[in-house]
Amino acid sequence: MYTSTRNAKLQLNSKQALTQGFATDGGLFVLPQLPTVDLTKMLATNYQGQAEIVLKALLPDFDEAVIDQVVTEAYGQQWDNARITPIHKLNDQYILELFHGPTSAFKDIGLQVLPRLLANAIDAQTKVLILAATSGDTGKAALEGFKDVPQTGIATFYPEGGVSPIQEKQMRTTGGENTHVAAIKGNFDDAQTAVKQMLNNAELAAQLGSVKLSVANSINIGRLAPQVVYYFNAYQQLVQAEVIKAGDVINFTVPTGNFGDVLAGYYAKLMGLPVNKLIVATNANSEVADFLKTGIYDRNREFIKTVSPSMDIQISSNLERLLFYKSGGDSQLVASLMQELAETGRYQVTADLLEAIQQDFVAGSASDDEVKEAIASVDAQTDYVMDPHTANGYVVQEQLAVPGVTVLLSTASPFKFPQVVAEAVLNERFDSGFDAMAALRDRKHLTIPAPLAQLQQLPERFDTVLAPDAMPAWVAKLAKEM
Ligand SMILES: *Cc1c(COP(=O)(O)O)cnc(C)c1O
Repeated sequence: MYTSTRNAKLQLNSKQALTQGFATDGGLFVLPQLPTVDLTKMLATNYQGQAEIVLKALLPDFDEAVIDQVVTEAYGQQWDNARITPIHKLNDQYILELFHGPTSAFKDIGLQVLPRLLANAIDAQTKVLILAATSGDTGKAALEGFKDVPQTGIATFYPEGGVSPIQEKQMRTTGGENTHVAAIKGNFDDAQTAVKQMLNNAELAAQLGSVKLSVANSINIGRLAPQVVYYFNAYQQLVQAEVIKAGDVINFTVPTGNFGDVLAGYYAKLMGLPVNKLIVATNANSEVADFLKTGIYDRNREFIKTVSPSMDIQISSNLERLLFYKSGGDSQLVASLMQELAETGRYQVTADLLEAIQQDFVAGSASDDEVKEAIASVDAQTDYVMDPHTANGYVVQEQLAVPGVTVLLSTASPFKFPQVVAEAVLNERFDSGFDAMAALRDRKHLTIPAPLAQLQQLPERFDTVLAPDAMPAWVAKLAKEM
């Protein structure tokens, strides 16, 4: 049974945990004892087979046939690489590309699975309308994930003028009968606050009939569980390439924001994958990296806008799950640390707990200058073009030089952040993202991922702009149409 990181007495099954998202006490859902999987079996099947094994182990209340079907649909033709997450060999380095899905960012791995599981976990009379406030990438990945999934709808809210033109275009051109997009007059926090208020708005709930409101954020186990799979798959690729033998330990370097991606790597280790170190890389918003080095989490500092915006995060939600496991499931301790964080913006763990964490994790951070320099120098040496998020990992991996074979996780296509990338590799500034994309394509002879290549020509379906106080009425109207 799942429990809460803040209250180990709570018990729910995996369907309830996935439907509810997070606990009413603010805690995250965890399995106190993670199941192990048979490494030999994992090495003998393909990505989809590995996903079936991992999802069945972590979400045991779903019918096995349902999981098989969800996996088949989630990892099908919408991926532009049959391996789903191929490894690119770069001299003596290994880059695991997680961006071959429909929105060219690693969020697709989880968001192609979660909506399909959610549709299965609810009963035939219930409909769910997902509300997503987004500062860019998550919104589009959630729209694509929920597009035309039965019994669900999705409404995405982004700050007007607060996302890149390409991100806005990606959202506004989304297909599907059940997808909705609105720009909000205000910043990301205004949109996020309005969404949270709608979830607790009794008057609104009464107008919605059989439609329930929910969210699809990255702490949901339905997003975390699918991310465990690519760690095993990367390992398999190295065994097949005879870089390692089955049973050898390897390291992973993970560009980190909310700690979901790298936590999935720790789950993989607990579930039986031979992992030595998980190398955590942040950008200048280095709260997590500093914590892993010192045992002090301190968010009382300035928020820094970087060239890797999807990692511009000061509160790393999924770290709470690591504290739970590393403290031996001490939910009282986790609850008190999280209360301290909420009240003072800071907490410190004991030397023993820090030592336990450092057995598995090392960390560092990269500056924007280092990131741009890494993109430029890797391109100059190898012709491989990295996105800025991946480059944070590259910089930290070079800094720390952990011995052994290491896989660097690449979390986005360089074409998602074309202006920064083009400036680094072509030494030229572009005012338009589309111009930067075309220049990278023509001058670096790269292929633009199909969904991004078509983007400029696609018709925009949505042009709604709302003040935050107009959001509930709009949501009520969408619910009536479901
Ligand atoms: C979300 C995201 C990350 C950070 O992943 P976390 O799971 O939040 O640590 C890194 N890179 C890109 C491109 C992302 O979209």
